[in-house]
Amino acid sequence: MAAPSLPAIHASHSGCWLRGPLQNGLWSTRPVGKGEAIMAAADTPLLLLNAPLIASRLGYPDLSGLDLLELFAFIHPAQFMVPTPKGLAQALGLAEPRTDDGVPELLQAAAQVLLATCEDPAWAEREGAWSALQSLVRLRWPWAGLLAPRIAQPQRAERWLFTRLPEWEEAPERPQPAQIVLDEYAIAARLAELTGSGAEQRPAQQAYARAAGAMFAPRGQLHQPHMVLAQAGTGTGKTFGYLAPASLWAQQSGGTVWVSTYTKALQRQLRRESRAAFPPERAERTGPPVVVRKGRENYLCLLNLEDALQGGFTGRPAIMAQLVARWAAYSQDGDMIGGDLPGWLGTLFRKRGITALTDQRGECVYAGCPHFRKCFIERAARASAGAELVIANHALVMINAARAREPAQRPTRIVFDEGHHVFEAADSTFASALTGAETVELRRWVIGPEGSQRGRRRGLAARLADVASYDTDGARAIADAREAASALPGDGWLARIVEGAPFGPIEDLLAETRELVLARDESGGQEAGYGLETEAAQLGGSFIEVAGRAQEALEALRQPLVRLSLRLEALIEDAPDWLDGPARARIEGARGAIGWRTDLIAGWIALLARLGGPGDPEFVDWLALERSEGREWDIGLHRRYLDPMKPFAEAVLAGAHGVMMTSATLTDGAETQNGDWSNAVERSGAPQLGVRPEVFAAPSPFDYAKNAEVLIVTDVPKGDIPALANAYGRLIEASGGGALGLFTAIRRLRAVYGRIADRLARGGLPLFAQHVDPIDTGTLVDIFRDDPRASLLGTDALRDGVDVPGHSLRLVVMEQVPWPKPSILHRARRLAHAEKFGGDSRGGGQAHDDRIIRARLAQAFGRLIRTGSDRGHFVVLSSAFPSRLLSAFPPGTPVRRVTLDAALQSVAGSVSGGAAAPAAVDQTDETHP
Ligand code: SF4
Repeated sequence: MAAPSLPAIHASHSGCWLRGPLQNGLWSTRPVGKGEAIMAAADTPLLLLNAPLIASRLGYPDLSGLDLLELFAFIHPAQFMVPTPKGLAQALGLAEPRTDDGVPELLQAAAQVLLATCEDPAWAEREGAWSALQSLVRLRWPWAGLLAPRIAQPQRAERWLFTRLPEWEEAPERPQPAQIVLDEYAIAARLAELTGSGAEQRPAQQAYARAAGAMFAPRGQLHQPHMVLAQAGTGTGKTFGYLAPASLWAQQSGGTVWVSTYTKALQRQLRRESRAAFPPERAERTGPPVVVRKGRENYLCLLNLEDALQGGFTGRPAIMAQLVARWAAYSQDGDMIGGDLPGWLGTLFRKRGITALTDQRGECVYAGCPHFRKCFIERAARASAGAELVIANHALVMINAARAREPAQRPTRIVFDEGHHVFEAADSTFASALTGAETVELRRWVIGPEGSQRGRRRGLAARLADVASYDTDGARAIADAREAASALPGDGWLARIVEGAPFGPIEDLLAETRELVLARDESGGQEAGYGLETEAAQLGGSFIEVAGRAQEALEALRQPLVRLSLRLEALIEDAPDWLDGPARARIEGARGAIGWRTDLIAGWIALLARLGGPGDPEFVDWLALERSEGREWDIGLHRRYLDPMKPFAEAVLAGAHGVMMTSATLTDGAETQNGDWSNAVERSGAPQLGVRPEVFAAPSPFDYAKNAEVLIVTDVPKGDIPALANAYGRLIEASGGGALGLFTAIRRLRAVYGRIADRLARGGLPLFAQHVDPIDTGTLVDIFRDDPRASLLGTDALRDGVDVPGHSLRLVVMEQVPWPKPSILHRARRLAHAEKFGGDSRGGGQAHDDRIIRARLAQAFGRLIRTGSDRGHFVVLSSAFPSRLLSAFPPGTPVRRVTLDAALQSVAGSVSGGAAAPAAVDQTDETHP
């Protein structure tokens, strides 16, 4: 069936183009104003690509139409596509439009191809399409009418998603890994296999692999893991370097190695590269050899999806649920965040629908769930217990080490790649925060939906319905917990506090906290709109009194939860008649969930108990009012370990047999030159257990002197937004795009973006930005990588989450020196550092700050040169750049302090000359040794 020609629209920062029929019946594309474009879209459904983005370009939030991204998600679920005209063209094998005015015609061609696919007998993702379409017709999905005549009803009824998904299999318990010693020659041979016999010999990589092998030696003493700290410059080949001994050990010992990363980019790379080291055929084990394991909040919860499909979601979110169900049937692992669900799908629906389909709040009913045997989360957990390699992130490794349900899921051989982030990951993992948002979640978890709340969320009594009905002690504990939880903040808590009418002891405490934080604020309103904090010190009598009542309320909740946990344990040990297999599994699951909530409440109680008394030197406590853009969103009390590597050592290192921490920047530049490992060793947690780690260092093989240049621009005045925007705009023009702009404040990012995006777009240089474009960060990076003329502005997450080798990234521009935020926590650690390493808080504290800044600069610089052939400039728009920070850059990197004009000349020169040529006008040469 020939697809009808439909009018199409495209809008970018440089204009809008509408394609429609002329009076003579021919079609043409013409530029239109925003007003005309909006009118046309309101009149008739137009073909468009990424409705929220087009809506933001037109300044008309209610824009809707026939979005080709939605159609693509329906026809090709779980397939990767960059959501740009170029990406769409590539995915469908169409010619890429050269200019914006060619895009509407491409959209028409793409619609034709996608609609024709449905009539192709070879359509790979046909199964389930007809059934999903029947629901989408009822939901009035704009594409449904065009698809209905093209998707024939299958002769045999299609199986429902929940019956089609395969069941995971229970694997037998694995024996302990064999104690083996890896042979150095075997490691070298495995490395040669992985890198290919034709690959260049890399002595540094071989030495690195040998060093990594040391972590797999049998442990000699309890709580004394073998530890290796290995620093290897970009380009050493770290991944194969540690995968070589890791794969040998896993295969010879029968054990599991965990590789932990901080960024999703590295997880993706590891998934790719580990295929060579862990081939799928395995003699003695079942299941895949390599498993990517994430926190449960990343995966689709089938029970939530079923609820959404059966009326839990209405309107646009219900359409999204249907598209997610299409994806679930074809997904490799059900990972919704950074897996094979397109990152752009959620943002098309503008609501937090994706999050509502995951198990965010620990409401899983485990074996009580009808989909338990098909559950993606359970499948991943079981697969990781039988895998040779588990790829996870730092936080999950720490949580699993601290409270995995089964010993087989506890990591004992761990490689922390991106090891320079272990400290901050431990800092947040072992933090305690008694806030409004946290306590509301706890109340919902205990009580379940209240008032007008809908959905399948259930409270403790419903999740443990059999215990509540058959076991008197258990039922009493549940009822007591429910009653105590009603003292926690409920919906509308923040409004009540702001209006001066808090309800219950915890809301009283939060109200006092807010008042005190506001009373002590000395920013004079300058920081209006940003978070405020104050020390948990010098608290008045009324505050302590209120805190005491809050403590009692929390204790009243903790006690029945502890009783319930003990009761459940007793039921498992001495099973009554009604406790069948599924009930036992459900109770075991519930015990885990109750256990970590009683720990959470105990942490809060400890925090409150200290208020008013002498401070505990192990912790830093403070009160905070969280705000963004003038809106308050949370209030609470916070506690961090002064040194989070202490709980890390207890929870992770003590139970491990071998641990490696590796990165290009374990030590900072100044320390590397002096061979000083003291800071890196301290930050590994090893001294907490009296362990002396092996250390290893290999410099980067890249020729930074030839391929990179650091330009410190001296004439952009601080705080002058027009000058900052002018500098960004001109630098991006000079490099012809390919620029990554890094900001320390969202406010300045938005201001700069608003001033330069249109001008750049008119010159054919698209600009994208985090916190501005309605696109998730992962997709923004995909778009940036895909188009060498595109540039991207962003904040912290981009400083080390971007892996874009090659020509697409040839310029990094930092708006200023990345000073640490002067928070209470930062001040306490600064002081502690000064006390430990000598000097007053100013001198010793400065060393602490410099270390943080150099690490951030090194991470940002690391985005620029990813391979031996990458070239580019690193520009800092700040004259206040102390020379002592220059050691952040790799040795040999030329560094110049120049005017903006000179910087532009240098950047433009390298574009035309194809190399990072030295600046023509050179004020001061500070080439780093
Ligand atoms: S077992 Fe739990 S997480 Fe899995 S589908 Fe069921 S409720 Fe959701």
